[in-house]
Amino acid sequence: MTNQASAEIQADIDHFMHGLRRRNPGEREFHQAVEESAQSIIPFCRENPEYGKDQILERMTEPDRIVIFRVTWEDRHGNFRANRAWRVQFNNSIGPYKGGMRFHPSVTLSVLKFLGFEQVLKNSLTTLPMGGGKGGSNFNPKGKTDREVMRFCHSLMVELSRHIGEDTDVPAGDIGVGEREISYMFGMYKRLANRFTGTLTGKGLAFGGSLVRTEATGYGSVYFMREMLATRGDGIKGKTAVVSGSGNVALHTIEKLTQLGAKVVTASDSGGFVHDPDGIGPEKLEWLKELKTVRRGRIREYAEKFGCDFYERERPWNVPCDLAFPSATQNELRGTDAKALLGNGVVGVCEGANMPTDHDGMQQFLDARILFGPAKAANAGGVAVSGLEQSQNALRISWSREQVNQHLEHIMKSIHDNCVQHGQEEGWINYVRGANVAGFVKIADAMLAYGAV
Ligand code: NDP
Repeated sequence: MTNQASAEIQADIDHFMHGLRRRNPGEREFHQAVEESAQSIIPFCRENPEYGKDQILERMTEPDRIVIFRVTWEDRHGNFRANRAWRVQFNNSIGPYKGGMRFHPSVTLSVLKFLGFEQVLKNSLTTLPMGGGKGGSNFNPKGKTDREVMRFCHSLMVELSRHIGEDTDVPAGDIGVGEREISYMFGMYKRLANRFTGTLTGKGLAFGGSLVRTEATGYGSVYFMREMLATRGDGIKGKTAVVSGSGNVALHTIEKLTQLGAKVVTASDSGGFVHDPDGIGPEKLEWLKELKTVRRGRIREYAEKFGCDFYERERPWNVPCDLAFPSATQNELRGTDAKALLGNGVVGVCEGANMPTDHDGMQQFLDARILFGPAKAANAGGVAVSGLEQSQNALRISWSREQVNQHLEHIMKSIHDNCVQHGQEEGWINYVRGANVAGFVKIADAMLAYGAV
């Protein structure tokens, strides 16, 4: 590409981002997510002018609708408490809105818009008919009793139920929202609607949940890495991996990596990380799962139990490894971390979390041409199996573990192939570009077909 052509593209991106920032002041995370995608989509639209018309990208970055509401609930001391909740219904061009609910004190409208926008492209990539949305609350489930969490979830659903439905908007889990919270929300939804439908996913197996949904995001992320490695004639077996987080995504990433013969040497939470050079094998992982999902304890207890090092308030990216899986939260892997990973010879990075790598970090991985699987492709396995849960609910059947896992492996391979199709550059595959463009094209085709709606 000539210097003049790249200067013109950059001017288009700057112009677009200037408008987006002006329309959405102060929403840093949302700006970051859109800019990352625009850097792939705008050049693609210049090469394919049919996608550059009708304000497609402008319309795609404006949510269809945002619902904001108060959630009042009673704590264990009998005090009334109030939180704020949102549901961002971003884009339903190719199917009902679909995306998780996040309960965490850091939740803001900007965070949910970034997640919702990413979700639109991600859901399109899964090959399933799902639009994109996201929701959540600044409620902090940590330190709350089960009854407090129940009262909060029930109260939230009293309002949210008016805006969702199996053909309208289908929420699921995310940070702070696991099976317990989904169960409380679904129970209240079912009562209010007086219908038993697949309106939430991530449900318990006894009431419409799908096998492998809990494992799907972590397993899918490892399957995506396997596909990327295969393009270089390589595999997972024998690799050393660094994983961040110890929640749903991280635990199942560790599990699948270990099953496929890798050694996982770290796990973390917001208090710090543990480094276990012997590897977090199956027995240690069972203990860790119990710690994090049943006892809701802290990762430092793992170091105390198994006699390894705990690094308070630090992240694991200085630990030498072949593969890295940031699987905790956004912007947890920055430029200096990318430099450390590259310095230690990392060959592949798969984003289990949403937008865990900041702009600088991502640019370094792309410049180094390592295998870099961006979130909207690498962690799409979770929402894909949520889509399969919807299908099973609609058909009133349950597929076996093997059936669902086969679907998941197949979907992750299709996502990978789509990324390759749109991400081929001279001598390597730019998965960031591939994922953004492949996700964009399907939605743009639908929006162009609908006209001005
Ligand atoms: P969980 O709530 O199960 O776990 C989150 C993990 O990240 C915990 O270990 C938590 O530690 C850690 N964490 C959260 N916030 C921070 C922070 N600010 N700094 C450091 N660590 C932090 O969430 P999930 O595993 O479900 O989600 C993790 C990521 O994956 C998120 O980005 C989510 O959007 C994404 N994702 C999840 C999917 C799913 O199916 N669950 C699907 C697709 C993406 P602590 O316990 O101390 O808070």
